[in-house]
Amino acid sequence: MLLEALYHRIKQNWSYAYDEKTLHIRLRSKKDDLTNVILHYGDKYGWEMTSAEVPMTKWASDSLFDYWEAAIEPRFRRTIYYFQLHDHEQTVYMLEKGFLDQKPAIVYEGLYDFPYMNRVDIITPPAWVKDAVFYQIFPERFANGDPGNDPDDVLPWGGTPTPSNFFGGDLQGVMDHLDYLSELGINAIYFTPVFEATTNHKYDTKDYFKVDPHFGTNEKLKQLVDACHGRGIRVLLDAVFNHCGKTFPAFVDVMENGAASAYADWFYVHSWPLEVKDGIPTYETFAFEPIMPKLNTENPEVQQYLLDVARYWIEEIGIDGWRLDVANEVDHQFWREFRKTVKSVNPDAYLLGEIMHDSMPWLQGDQFDAVMNYPFTNALLNFFARKTTNAEQFSHAIQAQLASYPRQITEVSFNLLGSHDTTRLLTLCKGHKESLMLAYLFELTFYGAPCIYYGDEIGMDGEHDPLNRKCMEWDQGKQDLALFSFFRKAIQLRKQYRALRTGGLRFYPQANKQLLAYERWDDEDQLLIIMNNSGSAAQYSKDINSGEWTGILASHENVLKRTIEIPAYGYLILKSLKS
Ligand code: CA
Repeated sequence: MLLEALYHRIKQNWSYAYDEKTLHIRLRSKKDDLTNVILHYGDKYGWEMTSAEVPMTKWASDSLFDYWEAAIEPRFRRTIYYFQLHDHEQTVYMLEKGFLDQKPAIVYEGLYDFPYMNRVDIITPPAWVKDAVFYQIFPERFANGDPGNDPDDVLPWGGTPTPSNFFGGDLQGVMDHLDYLSELGINAIYFTPVFEATTNHKYDTKDYFKVDPHFGTNEKLKQLVDACHGRGIRVLLDAVFNHCGKTFPAFVDVMENGAASAYADWFYVHSWPLEVKDGIPTYETFAFEPIMPKLNTENPEVQQYLLDVARYWIEEIGIDGWRLDVANEVDHQFWREFRKTVKSVNPDAYLLGEIMHDSMPWLQGDQFDAVMNYPFTNALLNFFARKTTNAEQFSHAIQAQLASYPRQITEVSFNLLGSHDTTRLLTLCKGHKESLMLAYLFELTFYGAPCIYYGDEIGMDGEHDPLNRKCMEWDQGKQDLALFSFFRKAIQLRKQYRALRTGGLRFYPQANKQLLAYERWDDEDQLLIIMNNSGSAAQYSKDINSGEWTGILASHENVLKRTIEIPAYGYLILKSLKS
């Protein structure tokens, strides 16, 4: 037994309250090393009256490790515990203080201690996100519904985007196409920034309390939010609180008055005057970008200003949450205050951080509900688009990701396959539509809140910014309607089967390493999903009894035989007739 590979500690993703009753406890071991693990637990003030044992389940594996998990319900909302580990030769007992070769004689010292499941500390993301299918809109490029508010230098819809040009998209354009979004089946929209700013992307905020006049008015946004709510569509706005724009009045004042400005401490100024020397501003900015000065969120006035902003759009306009730009460069203390403010107005608001890396420090219930799940994105792009990994490596990456967060975080992760910041998926797939479909099918049959980047559903392509921000194609003759139909069906299936959203997940390794097979199940349904990520037909390696399974979605006309052959880049979803 490789003791050095064993890992456990209390809290975070290793032991946490899933709900008011249930505690999840996880252990990591070297891959294929242990045969079984037993969790011994009991009350720290009355072990003899309460102690119990339960086998742990090997619920995930990556290339190096196995992950074991048990769900227990401690009667008094607290527990001490230790692990009994078996391999083919040996039994070892693992305690907080170390390893023993026999059961601990004295349990009141040296065991792991989950001290108390205090209700207020339980990570409780908004429940609606588990059932959400998001659609990301870049407002300047979705639809121009009101030529009257166009910028002076507006270009005809459909031209080639540059970093600085405008095509007149606005909120009325979104309003005009809500039927389209309902038909697609999405039930949440994430808007990149809509507040007044100078650029087409609006990440350089001028006025945090005002919708950009080229997009409409605050009143128009409220109408849009109300119209969305009327259709069961939630609305998420983008909060750019790490930095403002160069036209933000406080920054303008500092530019004019220097150290004498009343707002001098709203920013991190290293030396006066504010200027750029050898490409580096004398004040802190986002990514050395002089037009995006970093806000000093340690200053109480700045905090109050931004908290008022956060509250205003929730309270007055009725939005359902915030996506938080460059979230990991803003201090944790600010985010804790931010969460309290937003949740006091709307406890169901979804707080989504833009963090590209492991994000556990922000996801402990006191800051964000979720992050933009880029590790998920990268795993999918490597397998389905770049084809640099095989199905086994892909499943390891996904399982490592699952093991790195508490389950309730996974259930509300914001899973994306592209955005205004990345090359479009179809382009990454070199225009190969079937690869894009497989990637989205995985996203739509996995935990979390899947997101569709506007236009992916009708076959839009585009290289990295600015070409990933083309005008939405509204000419049906130029839309890929078959692809749209695929998205509709896959979204519909996700809505129909809860197992696809929150059920169990198990991968079935295949002899053919380009064949991905996994099961999703809950107490109602059992679904088997098979995808062939290669250019030649592939055999599913287990016999399928056609009396026990029925096909519910497939890329090709498929007759269920004892052995299932999946065509090149095909997919098949089967439902068990026994469940
Ligand atoms: Ca317009």
